[in-house]
Amino acid sequence: MYRAPVDEIAFTLKHVAGLKSALEAGLLGDLSEDLADAILAEAGRFATEEIAPLYKVGDQRGAVLKEAEVTTPPGWKELYHRWIEGGWNALSGPEEFGGQGLPHMLAVAALEMWNSGAMAFAIGPTLTMGAVEALDKHASDDLKATYLEKLVSGEWMGTMNLTEPQAGSDLAALKARAERAEDGTYRIFGQKIFITYGEQDFTDNIVHLVLARLPDAPAGTRGISLFLVPKFLVNSDGTLGTRNDVFCASMEHKLGIHGSPTCTMIYGDGFSKDLPSGAVGWLIGEENKGLACMFTMMNNARLAVGMQGVAIAEAAYQRALGYANERRQGKAAGFEGEGMAPIVHHPDVQRNLLTMKSLTASARAIAYSCAHALDMAHASDGAEKLHWQERASLLTPVAKAFSTDIGVDVASIGVQVHGGMGYIEETGAASLLRDARIAPIYEGTNGIQSIDLVLRKLPQSDGEQVAAYIEELRGIANEVGRSNLPGFGRSAARLETAIEALKSATDYLINAQNEGRGEDALAGATPYLRLFGLVAGGSYLAKAALADSDASRVALCRFFAENLIGEAVTLNECIVGGAESLAAAATSLVA
Ligand SMILES: Cc1cc2nc3c(=O)[nH]c(=O)nc-3n(C[C@H](O)[C@H](O)[C@H](O)COP(=O)(O)OP(=O)(O)OC[C@H]3O[C@@H](n4cnc5c(N)ncnc54)[C@H](O)[C@@H]3O)c2cc1C
Repeated sequence: MYRAPVDEIAFTLKHVAGLKSALEAGLLGDLSEDLADAILAEAGRFATEEIAPLYKVGDQRGAVLKEAEVTTPPGWKELYHRWIEGGWNALSGPEEFGGQGLPHMLAVAALEMWNSGAMAFAIGPTLTMGAVEALDKHASDDLKATYLEKLVSGEWMGTMNLTEPQAGSDLAALKARAERAEDGTYRIFGQKIFITYGEQDFTDNIVHLVLARLPDAPAGTRGISLFLVPKFLVNSDGTLGTRNDVFCASMEHKLGIHGSPTCTMIYGDGFSKDLPSGAVGWLIGEENKGLACMFTMMNNARLAVGMQGVAIAEAAYQRALGYANERRQGKAAGFEGEGMAPIVHHPDVQRNLLTMKSLTASARAIAYSCAHALDMAHASDGAEKLHWQERASLLTPVAKAFSTDIGVDVASIGVQVHGGMGYIEETGAASLLRDARIAPIYEGTNGIQSIDLVLRKLPQSDGEQVAAYIEELRGIANEVGRSNLPGFGRSAARLETAIEALKSATDYLINAQNEGRGEDALAGATPYLRLFGLVAGGSYLAKAALADSDASRVALCRFFAENLIGEAVTLNECIVGGAESLAAAATSLVA
């Protein structure tokens, strides 16, 4: 079973992402290194001892819907209450409303461990934390006073309601309707699908953040507003009042994350007998500016979903490593014991395990570096703030998509390492693969993340932000070269070639956009994000190895550089030369 790799996580945070230097520079308020270590250790203990043991029941029993009420898997409600009593929901929440205001770096590291314990459990609080951030930034003081404290503590949970049957990636198509009421509130009508924890039995109240359109709103994304719609209206003394006109009409049966209820929510259909027609909602931010408010929540959630990819990959690696040391088959040159060798002695199994380990470590480093950029933006002003904001924007789609793609890859290799035992359910390898598969889809599909990276993030500051980032990666490769450590083998040269490939692809994509060849840029978006992730991840493995020259870190960096990062060259060729062949072959696809 999963054991939180607290030391590895702390090392990556401190020496790769920049936690240590930020602490030393006094940029993280009262937080000390000792306190950070203690928080990580306790979050890891909770993940290992409390969440992970309830993973299996969540997967096997799942959440159940009966007469619009959801029952979560046995033991999960109690688990949630132990978790909020430990103050974990409040970790990164605003201090004004009872939160601990801790840095993003610690929050995402804790999130990784909780998701490794059970992703279907951790996704619920993740959405609450996103709702807290959106309300804190955009809601009126009255709404904040009524809802934030309870959301920060976890007494109530939050949800995110964007998707409708005809509006998935394209939110411009959404139809949910909002009408102005005379008392300044709104009435919401419509259907939302796939709403995570839309209904649950963890908390007495649920605070839905809902995108809807006013009757006189402009078409498209410029006509979308964001509303807060509670399950129960809240009385002026903070107690729960009338049941609102929103209910869960059905729950999806899905490939994985069975413990997480995925709900179809109906607003304003006459469910509440105590209310005239319509679900009562309150505007967040300004009318027709809802998408910008929701993006606060979505950006937070994108990095959090990236952590799910890292988390599943780590859990899958640990399972596969444990199995490979137990299962015996065949003879192996490196094994001197009696009888058949544990399969971990076979070079092919070793390749699988090291691929899993190095991809996981590289994705973790990217995601934590993104969190570091968010913390640095929070701690700085002026041009420096802009720099860190842009850095976080650049890394967010990579952290989301690269991590969740490798989450699926690593979970799949984990099944392979188990052989036939991986394909049947007992070992738990298969359920991790089933869980992993959703993360590249929700919170903006990975295709959409790649487009975001290419169309919106590369042009930041006229391409200066990405150029500076690539030079930072080059600096790491140069340092590897100068280190003269024999354990690095050909790492420096391999990294430099890969960085050159990233530079070439970046220049091509920026030029394609400047020259009006947007379709060529779109054609290369997904291979570009993979290229970016591989090069950044490989460089971060080198940074980790340089930080303590531990032989196993140096060896892992070398393995990645000499075995995996070579893909960068073909990805670049695909980006700069693949658009024409794609367009030519695509003529056969359209019905
Ligand atoms: C388990 C689960 C939980 C979810 N939780 C929530 C939730 O809590 N709240 C919520 O609002 N939603 C939620 N969703 C919905 C999820 O965010 C959407 O499924 C996702 O955004 C994709 O939308 P779609 O399914 O309509 O796919 P589509 O948008 O139809 O996409 C289908 C394919 O086409 C591609 N595509 C679409 N448009 C473009 C384009 N312009 N360019 C290139 N490629 C494109 C996509 O990348 C994808 O591969 C959840 C979904 C699931 C399955």
